[in-house]
Amino acid sequence: MQKTKNNNNLVWFRNDLRTIDNAVLFEAQKNSNQLIAVYCFDPRPFAFNKFGFKKTEKHRARFLIETVTDLKAQLNKLNIELLVFHAQPEDIIPNIFTEYNINTVFLQKEWTSEELTIENAVKSKCKNCIWHSVYNKFLYHPDDINFKISDTPQVFTVFKKKLEKHVDIRPELNISKYSEDNRIENNTKIPSLHDLGFEDFDHHTHSAFPFQGGETHAINRLQDYVFNTKKLGYYKKTRNSLVGKDYSSKFSPWLANGSLSARTIYWNIKKFEEEHFKNESTYWLIFELIWRDYFKYISLKHSNQIFKLKGILQKDYTWKTDQNSIQNWINGETTSDFVNANMLELKNTGWMSNRGRQNVASYFAKSLELDWRIGAAYFESLLLDYDVHSNYGNWMYVAGVGNDPRDRTFNVELQADRYDANGKFRNLWLQPSLF
Ligand SMILES: Cc1cc2nc3c(=O)[nH]c(=O)nc-3n(C[C@H](O)[C@H](O)[C@H](O)COP(=O)(O)OP(=O)(O)OC[C@H]3O[C@@H](n4cnc5c(N)ncnc54)[C@H](O)[C@@H]3O)c2cc1C
Repeated sequence: MQKTKNNNNLVWFRNDLRTIDNAVLFEAQKNSNQLIAVYCFDPRPFAFNKFGFKKTEKHRARFLIETVTDLKAQLNKLNIELLVFHAQPEDIIPNIFTEYNINTVFLQKEWTSEELTIENAVKSKCKNCIWHSVYNKFLYHPDDINFKISDTPQVFTVFKKKLEKHVDIRPELNISKYSEDNRIENNTKIPSLHDLGFEDFDHHTHSAFPFQGGETHAINRLQDYVFNTKKLGYYKKTRNSLVGKDYSSKFSPWLANGSLSARTIYWNIKKFEEEHFKNESTYWLIFELIWRDYFKYISLKHSNQIFKLKGILQKDYTWKTDQNSIQNWINGETTSDFVNANMLELKNTGWMSNRGRQNVASYFAKSLELDWRIGAAYFESLLLDYDVHSNYGNWMYVAGVGNDPRDRTFNVELQADRYDANGKFRNLWLQPSLF
């Protein structure tokens, strides 16, 4: 890239860390301008939140480093250079503008408050530039839906019915390769786990998520789960299980940081259905991706209300904040061995099954009547697949302040009998010496 040339494009990567089916990259390629990319490891997501948890704990920190490392390699193949910094974007991006004569910035559209605050801080320092943000996380693109976002139904089934038969899923976008001229000298370095404030650690041998971050690993997993092992074909039967890597797709950590697109999954499932077979299971994975979309539409509609104690239902309950009960839950020392096993799994691996999440969240919010936002903040800290919309949407749902028209409490003992009848999962985490 010639530094002197005007009208260069910049892609600012945040939670869209992929080159396949990336609408931001696609938009940035529409004109003949040269292109560079930037990613900032902003220290703020690694600081402590108001409940005393690190916003990002070590499991997701490592996954993110792996993801950015892979993104850099994939962009390199396209002759696009990724500049990586360990600093606040507003302290870095304005300098990049000047140094590389950036005219237009392309970025994924975000709408939650923390992302917007940072975006506005950068924009306020880069006033002469054109900002081009695009929706890039959805299965059903917000510009294609047949209702106003403010009319997003409060009940999932109604939402699903409005979309499924009436709205098309867009095809995947192809990203082209630049010529060698697009390259720049790049001496920036990806921070280590140590730089981000963590010690190195080994993967837990019992982890149900023994995978690495980055789109290469995401695509490998997709290929493996869907085509090589055809586990997709049994998904509906296995999705409520608790042990092992294949009872569910495990796509969520890659989806959460955008190293895999929901559309890529969708079109691969369609391909599988054409080449092999179509059944309830192949449909059900798409059904779950619609749930993912749903919580994004709910957060678009309700904005910061998803972080409020009364939730989107504006429901008043009495919530407790007893520190002992919170710590016992975190440490897997409650009176329920099923809750304990799940919480130990989360602490040791950054992973918990959907069945586990429903149970421990219900136990926290409905049985112990603890402020659900504290449980959600702990999940935010620990989960490999933390996604603001899915996390807060699901927590509100379970706590009775979200989209569940029924106000339910899980009976964790009955759930354990049903989903862990032989105790295998509980033994794995409560008596690891047996394994
Ligand atoms: C209290 C609570 C908190 C949660 N927090 C998160 C979170 O921070 N990030 C996150 O991605 N998911 C969250 N979930 C949803 C769900 O538990 C995970 O998406 C799922 O367990 C991931 O495993 P998988 O990829 O193997 O899912 P699969 O069962 O294989 O499903 C495929 C994909 O569908 C989507 N999906 C499935 N279930 C849900 C759901 N209930 N809500 C939204 N999307 C769904 C996910 O993107 C998932 O990767 C939460 C659920 C609960 C009950």
